[in-house]
Amino acid sequence: MSEDRLALLRSRIRDIADFPKEGILFKDITPLLADVNAFRATIDLMVEALDGESVGAVIGIESRGFMFGAALADKLGVGFVPVRKPGKLPAATHRAEYDLEYGSDAVEIHQDALRPGDRAVIVDDLIATGGTAKAAGELVKRCGAEVAAFVFVINLVALEGAKKLEPHRVISILDY
Ligand code: AMP
Repeated sequence: MSEDRLALLRSRIRDIADFPKEGILFKDITPLLADVNAFRATIDLMVEALDGESVGAVIGIESRGFMFGAALADKLGVGFVPVRKPGKLPAATHRAEYDLEYGSDAVEIHQDALRPGDRAVIVDDLIATGGTAKAAGELVKRCGAEVAAFVFVINLVALEGAKKLEPHRVISILDY
């Protein structure tokens, strides 16, 4: 059964060459979102992989992490918290910076978004180098909360991003 669902998911992920710049093979998840069976199966597989893990909140990373994270939060019966690019959140924030190939970027969270001791699951569509997810993990800790697990639809395994997130649990539904 799982194999059928995974095959469905794979069939709904589209490769776009040289987007957003030359040399990048972009994994486009919009066909998956547009197919209710594939979208539901993705969230169900995330819930099954979490296997009863105690979760107090789901964090979604801007912007594709919002879609999967919000659906997962609903299914788990917990609240959703956005981690956003700088300057987007209106109240007081914590900020974490991370390195890009050239330069750096940052993500922010509202300082009061999590309760101390909350166990949070951090969700994004894809892990490449792991820099974005690692920064989101730092924000969770800055709020006094804990990372229960990182959950991704896609892991680009060759980039070894999951190593950056050790010793936390990293769940990916599809490995490429
Ligand atoms: P990283 O911080 O290197 O793990 O990059 C992860 C973030 O960049 C995620 O929010 C992804 O949505 C996006 N991303 C990186 N590489 C790709 C790719 N090949 N296809 C689609 N999204 C990507």
